[in-house]
Amino acid sequence: MHELGLLRSVVTAVERAATTAGATGVEAVGLRVGTLSGAEPQALDGAWPIATAGTVVDGARLEIEQVQAAVWCPGCGCDQPVDEFYALVCPACGTPSGTLVRGREFAVAYADLETPGHG
Ligand SMILES: [Zn+2]
Repeated sequence: MHELGLLRSVVTAVERAATTAGATGVEAVGLRVGTLSGAEPQALDGAWPIATAGTVVDGARLEIEQVQAAVWCPGCGCDQPVDEFYALVCPACGTPSGTLVRGREFAVAYADLETPGHG
């Protein structure tokens, strides 16, 4: 599963942060996931317990913030949301635009670490 590989990288990054902070556990992990990132939020939810099993991240909540993809439209002079990668055409005025301004994000937004004597 594609998502499992992505989450393993996330878990590794959070583990590293937790070790550095001397954390005893992780409360929650927030991910920013673009609609064109190739990762399905549902599949991420499903793979999360597998990716975190046996790590310090085990038991943490996964909080996914979806980022709607958008192109820059020179016709409108602003960003316009798009649903499909291959429809890089402004949905408002039809001007072709090859400039994707967001939607490919796949990043850790935050990790709520449980540290001794804190919370
Ligand atoms: Zn437009």
